[in-house]
Amino acid sequence: MERFISFEEIKKSLDKKETDCQTIVGHYLQNIQTKAHLNAFVEVYEQSSLEKAKQIDEKIALGKAGKLAGMVIGIKDVLCYEGHESNASSAILKGFEAQFTSTAVQRLIQEDAIIIGRLNCDEFGMGSSNENSVHGKVLNAQDESRVPGGSSGGSAVAVQANLCTASLGTDTGGSVRQPAAFTGVIGMKPTYSRISRWGLIAYASSFDTIGIFSKSVKDNALIMEVIAGHDEFDNTSSRKPIFPYSQLLHFEKKAKVAYLKETIESPALQPEIKEQTLKVLDQLREEGHEVEEVSFPLLDYILPTYYILTTAEASSNLSRFDGVKYGYRSPNAHNLESMYKLTRTEGFGEEVKRRIMLGTFVLSASYYDAYFTKAQKVRRLIKEYTENLLQDFDYILLPTTPSTAFKFGEHSDDPVAMYLEDLFTVQASVSGVPAISIPNGRDKNGMPIGLQVIANSFKEAELYAFSNYLTQLTD
Ligand code: GLN
Repeated sequence: MERFISFEEIKKSLDKKETDCQTIVGHYLQNIQTKAHLNAFVEVYEQSSLEKAKQIDEKIALGKAGKLAGMVIGIKDVLCYEGHESNASSAILKGFEAQFTSTAVQRLIQEDAIIIGRLNCDEFGMGSSNENSVHGKVLNAQDESRVPGGSSGGSAVAVQANLCTASLGTDTGGSVRQPAAFTGVIGMKPTYSRISRWGLIAYASSFDTIGIFSKSVKDNALIMEVIAGHDEFDNTSSRKPIFPYSQLLHFEKKAKVAYLKETIESPALQPEIKEQTLKVLDQLREEGHEVEEVSFPLLDYILPTYYILTTAEASSNLSRFDGVKYGYRSPNAHNLESMYKLTRTEGFGEEVKRRIMLGTFVLSASYYDAYFTKAQKVRRLIKEYTENLLQDFDYILLPTTPSTAFKFGEHSDDPVAMYLEDLFTVQASVSGVPAISIPNGRDKNGMPIGLQVIANSFKEAELYAFSNYLTQLTD
């Protein structure tokens, strides 16, 4: 199975009739079993994926298969899939079964992708190491003593360890890009509103985006063209046209690239990551592209802005989990008030509770203006600064993360150290612009390094094309 690195290869084999979907699914199921200790999957849809594979094989024989026939996909445990459990990796959603399917997953199924299972993540998408999950931690397949990143750690490892062809994750502040960097795969967060959020269990609604993990840029682009676009169930989803991204990967022009001085000079940046990033910038110069250093004086304000706004939104979004409507209800309650209190106390994990409290605080009457209103203003400044920069430059290049994958437990006692992991990914989230992480070499321990590329809103086609070109340089 290792020979199928990407969907392109699977498709070639299917076209030549060297394999069929049932064999492909069988191989992935075998891999999932062999590597079960990585804990990437929390549930494997063994029987239904084999049945689906059989149906798709029949469709292929009739020449009626969709464009993702043969693609096997895992989905993060925050995406609803009708008739299947979704827990957001939280005890509070234990036993919760989705009554409808999220639009992104539905669109994959319509094009004959096979959904093979549900993937582990940090509780409600809050975390950078996948250590905050009721399902337990996920191991990085490159070095099992290290974290896979988070919150979409299971989605990243599933692709890294060849447990499926591609996967869906979600990215609110870096949860697709950071684990992609830590595991050496490609992770794309599109423009906010490019993909419908219908059926996605919300963390911070003005930041949440569904994102895609894959081994090749082309596979990623192909999935994007299937799942992106307006959806009548999500009024915030954009009506702007989508493009056949996977057919627009040829990059010929000379690019204008900016890199941010403050990221390269950040004391938090691991030296090998700095080296690898500068190396790519040099290569680009040699290839005749315009590369310019620019200053980003707002860097220090990004993380506080992100954590004030997302915790505020989370405290509101998560108020619906109260023991009445979904999942867990404390058996120890003796009246209505204790039912609410005990359900939430027992059902939520530490990090989620910390954020609900922080968010409730910044929204409280006496502090609203000092924190929430102010953070919204700073968000506007960051967004405008980023968009202006992207008027002058085609792309911004920066490291995806300040460090490579760290060891388990390294940051678990220090929430601020953990939040600093998001230093380079939150700019695109606060601004709503698309960003991708592609592999860019390794550090001295052999751990993958990620390079992040940002483009202006709705420039996914340009972002994919340039990233495709960059992967040839970074190889
Ligand atoms: N690590 C960030 C956080 O904990 C990002 C999470 C995400 O993108 N879902 O908020």
